[in-house]
Amino acid sequence: MIQGVNLSWRKNASCRGLDPAIFYPASEEDAAEAKAICAGCLVREACLEYALVNRERDGVWGGATEKERRRILRHRRKTA
Ligand code: SF4
Repeated sequence: MIQGVNLSWRKNASCRGLDPAIFYPASEEDAAEAKAICAGCLVREACLEYALVNRERDGVWGGATEKERRRILRHRRKTA
């Protein structure tokens, strides 16, 4: 299966039904609430991988902010 196309993990997302605004904070500093929810989410890894593969630019995915995802991608490129 092509990674990024499988979205079945979303049905187990802890953010399901919550206000999406929580996951699109105005700044990195305002991401604490979203990160706390992601920390207890069963599909955190799948969510983060989805965001990385699809180059999601905005919001908190898998507990990582946009800046943190850029850092992860940079690190992966260096170690690939
Ligand atoms: S890791 Fe966070 S953004 Fe991703 S599905 Fe879980 S709660 Fe939602």
